[in-house]
Amino acid sequence: MKQQYDKHRYDVVVIGSGPAGMAAAVSAADSGVSVCLAEREERMGGILKQCIHDGFGLIRFKEKLTGPEYAWRYEQMVRKRDIDFMGLTFLTGIEKRENDFKIAFVNPERGVFEIEAGSLVMAMGCRERSGRQIFLHGERPAGIFTAGQAQDFINLKGFMPGRRCVILGSGDIGLIMSRRLTLEGAEVLGVYEIGSAPSGLTRNIVQCLEDYNIPLHLETTVTEVHGKERVEGVTVCRVDENKKPIMETALFLACDSLILSVGLIPENDILAPLDVDIDSVTKGPSVNQRQETSVPGMFSCGNALHVSDLVDYVSESGHVAGKMAAARVLKREADSGQMVIKKAGILQYAVPQNISFPVNGQVPVFFRPSEASDHAEFIFRQGERVIHKKKLSWLKPSEMHRLELDLSKVRQDGPAVTFELKPEAVNE
Ligand SMILES: Cc1cc2nc3c(=O)[nH]c(=O)nc-3n(C[C@H](O)[C@H](O)[C@H](O)COP(=O)(O)OP(=O)(O)OC[C@H]3O[C@@H](n4cnc5c(N)ncnc54)[C@H](O)[C@@H]3O)c2cc1C
Repeated sequence: MKQQYDKHRYDVVVIGSGPAGMAAAVSAADSGVSVCLAEREERMGGILKQCIHDGFGLIRFKEKLTGPEYAWRYEQMVRKRDIDFMGLTFLTGIEKRENDFKIAFVNPERGVFEIEAGSLVMAMGCRERSGRQIFLHGERPAGIFTAGQAQDFINLKGFMPGRRCVILGSGDIGLIMSRRLTLEGAEVLGVYEIGSAPSGLTRNIVQCLEDYNIPLHLETTVTEVHGKERVEGVTVCRVDENKKPIMETALFLACDSLILSVGLIPENDILAPLDVDIDSVTKGPSVNQRQETSVPGMFSCGNALHVSDLVDYVSESGHVAGKMAAARVLKREADSGQMVIKKAGILQYAVPQNISFPVNGQVPVFFRPSEASDHAEFIFRQGERVIHKKKLSWLKPSEMHRLELDLSKVRQDGPAVTFELKPEAVNE
């Protein structure tokens, strides 16, 4: 790996060096093109640097790694290749030109500067929803943290965010932080979730809450924060079927911190001036099977594309985006048409959203159901012609599914293609 700050043009520029960006840089470099990996933080690894628990890499490395160990493996792959890594470098703007991109950055060495790129891979991850975005009422005292902030304080900076904590939202990071805070000696009063089902993975409910006797309160939310300088308590309330608080159930809980785990938003705001098509469900760009967005030459991967449960899938999507970004520069992929894939049944979303022709062979497709179902069938069809069917069990919106589908069976001149997720009644 080179540290080279004076180059002005690369075939592929990757923005963000989390697991998605590192994988994209590696696969682009392996295709023989020049690659730059730009990252606003000093070091590579993205959010994995602060995820010190294990469970990462079971699919990719067939091993149970911690987040930093997983990141380190990819960092070694980057360092062994001819990839220019620019740390402390913040992307501030993108201009699409006829055949390439002009990208504006700022960093301490060069100040504000521009680089040209043949293709661009967006791998900027996601950010956490904050108290403001869920209209949290009450004062604004110290002691309200997002779960990722609390994770950063404890795991990287060595500070305890609180001693008596309430967790709002049952996303995976909140569940993981319930356990982490408990292990560090804090008292976690409970996890309060407005929905009727937890939004995190079942394995995290078991390993992070049940194993530590931390109660999970469904259909319950925090309606008020108390305290002027520092959080002194919160009011929690049960909610009705419309998620409206039932005020008679209000209960004051004395605590010194409130940890929010109320959703992640793919980081794509910088794409707004480019008019990239954004999927209203995933909040990431709509892409074809090559993970190319509606702006030719711009690819998306990882949590910026859609929020994934498993880092292994994030890396896989980075590999695809990097390889395809290189192929675009090498002119190995030329589109002869595009088709939007329709959704049906209880399919919340599926990625890719489009097919670009020509299509080569098997493609990984990621999807989530919109509601829980014990049994369902995934049907991939063109018009009435069924191309692939697969029976699935125990589907939940919180758990993502992956299928490999042969998109080359789609006829370019044929009728619309549909991905349908059909709930099935199973006879006892
Ligand atoms: C706070 C938080 C905690 C998490 N904890 C866990 C966990 O404990 N366990 C688990 O399995 N999963 C966890 N996840 C999920 C985890 O994010 C994914 O598994 C995976 O790390 C996503 O990889 P990524 O490369 O898409 O994004 P990230 O790892 O988020 O990497 C994105 C990178 O892009 C960089 N970047 C963003 N904007 C710019 C810009 N403008 N210019 C330059 N660089 C930029 C960021 O600095 C970052 O390094 C967590 C997610 C979040 C947000």
